[in-house]
Amino acid sequence: MNLEELTHIYDLTGRVIVVSGGTGVLGSEIACSLVGLGAHVVILDRNPALSETMRERLHCDAGDAISVYANVLERETLEKAEEVIRAEFGPVDTLINVAGGNNAEATTNPDNTFFDIPEQAFRSVLDLNTLGTVLPCQVFGRGMAERKAGVILNISSMAAMRPLTRIPAYSGAKAAISNFTQWLAVHMAQEYSPNIRVNALAPGFFIGKQNRFLLTDEKTGDLTPRGRQIIDHTPMKRFGNPEDLVGTVAWLISDASKFITGIVVPVDGGFSAFGGV
Ligand code: NAD
Repeated sequence: MNLEELTHIYDLTGRVIVVSGGTGVLGSEIACSLVGLGAHVVILDRNPALSETMRERLHCDAGDAISVYANVLERETLEKAEEVIRAEFGPVDTLINVAGGNNAEATTNPDNTFFDIPEQAFRSVLDLNTLGTVLPCQVFGRGMAERKAGVILNISSMAAMRPLTRIPAYSGAKAAISNFTQWLAVHMAQEYSPNIRVNALAPGFFIGKQNRFLLTDEKTGDLTPRGRQIIDHTPMKRFGNPEDLVGTVAWLISDASKFITGIVVPVDGGFSAFGGV
C-alpha cells in the first residue's frame, strides 16, 4: 500500500456520524475531532446545548455538525432524531454510543453499603449503559442493515474486564456492553452484511464530571486513595486525556479496520495489562 492509499483508508470525509453523549467530556472531544476529519457529525444528547469551546471548534473545521436532542432510553426520541438527521445529512453511516456512566447512589461507601443500594439506582445504571447502547443500535442499525453497510462503536470500560470495587452496577453494565458488542458484530455480519462492523473501546481512567471527586480530592486536588491506586496500577502513570481516544476511534470507524469486528480495544495506559506485581 502506498502513502496515498494508506491516507485514504482513514478518510472520513462526508461520513454521517452520530455521537451519543456528544456534549460530555469524552463525547465532545470525539465529536469535535471527527468534524476536524471532515465528517458530518451529529451530537446526540439529552442535554444538546453546546459549550462555547465546542461551538468554536465545530465552526472552523473541515466537516460540519448539528446538535440533536434524544434520550438514549426513549426509543421515540431516537426515532425522531433519526428523521431529523436523515433530512439534514442523509442516512447514518456510523454510530458511536458514548452516552453512559455511573450513579453515585449505586456506588458503595460506608454510608451506602452494598446491602443498601436502592434498586432504582442499580437499575438506572444498568439501563443507561446497556439499554442506552442497545436502543440506538436498533434505531440507527436498521438503516445500516437495509443499506448493508455501517459501523457501530460502543464504549465499554476497564470495569467490564474485571469488576472494579465499589461500582457493581456499572461494572456489570459495561461487561454487558462488551458482550453485546461481540453478539451484534456476529449478528450483523451473518444476517445482514459483512460490511457492517461493530466494535468497542474500553477506556481506562479519564477525569470527568462523574469520577473527578472519586479520584481527586475536591479541596486540595490531590489524588484520593482510589486515584492513587489507579495511577499505581497504570504503567504509564497518568490518567487519560480525552484526545488519547481519538486515534483509536478514527481507526475503528474508518476503512483502516475494515477486517475487524467484534473486538474491545483497551485505551488505558497499560492498566489492563498490569498484574499488579
Ligand atoms: P459525561 O458524563 O461527561 O458524558 C456523558 C454524556 O451522556 C453527557 O453529555 C450526558 O448528557 C449524556 N447522557 C447521559 N444520559 C443520557 C441519556 N439518557 N440520553 C442521552 N444522553 C445522555 O461522561 P464521560 O466521562 O464523557 O463518559 C462517556 C462514556 O465513557 C460513558 O459511557 C462512560 O461510562 C465511559 N467511560 C468513561 C470513563 C472515564 O474515565 N471518564 C472510563 C471508561 C468509560
